[in-house]
Amino acid sequence: MVPGVKQRVVLLGPPASGKGTQADRISAAVGLPHLSTGALLRIESRRGSDIGRKAEAYTIRGELVPDEMAVELVTGWMSENGCRFLLDGFPRTLSQAVSLDAALESRNALLDLIIILELGEEAIRSRILNRISCLVCGATFSAGLHGYEEGEPCPRCRTPLARRKDDTETALSQRLEAYRSQTLPVLAYYERTVPGILHRIDGEQESDAVFTEVSALIGGKPTRSA
Ligand code: AMP
Repeated sequence: MVPGVKQRVVLLGPPASGKGTQADRISAAVGLPHLSTGALLRIESRRGSDIGRKAEAYTIRGELVPDEMAVELVTGWMSENGCRFLLDGFPRTLSQAVSLDAALESRNALLDLIIILELGEEAIRSRILNRISCLVCGATFSAGLHGYEEGEPCPRCRTPLARRKDDTETALSQRLEAYRSQTLPVLAYYERTVPGILHRIDGEQESDAVFTEVSALIGGKPTRSA
């Protein structure tokens, strides 16, 4: 762990704003555990577990899974792994934010920082509809930009690359609607209850530029730029 790093960080933003990519890089650079509720749900779906099957009925349509399911994933993770984290994609509803506050309070902890990666709708659509992902390690690539195609091995872990089942026009419209109607109120909630905790970064910049800004907010001196 790198000294001076914020201990409890939330990373939010619309689909394809770069949350997963930045969280991976930060986690590798400063040793803060990366917890992505979307990634945990995809692992469960691939396993075919009960929770995975239930979750997929929502995720495939671009809807949020029920709050209890998302909260249980996060509080279960905290019970096993402790109270230092880079939370990617949680809390996404007001009810989840209130549950997170309560879970932290019961552990005598507070959130240190919330980062919002902002991205316009045109960029979101173009990124999502061109996106190819590794459904195992979570790496993402732009078919246009990086030249990868579905079925080619992931350069990180060799799993065949694929499109996420929710990276479709129809699911994307629903994901954008969920972001507007359910997640934007979470930002207003934190701006009201913890003034100064929330920072916005332009997610349309190059990934390295975003990483520099995110690193500066999280603090510590990254051991490598990942
Ligand atoms: P993501 O990988 O963050 O884009 O999430 C993919 C999908 O997982 C979302 O569209 C939701 O269906 C589900 N999901 C992820 N995080 C949450 C959350 N905090 N609350 C509810 N659903 C979530």
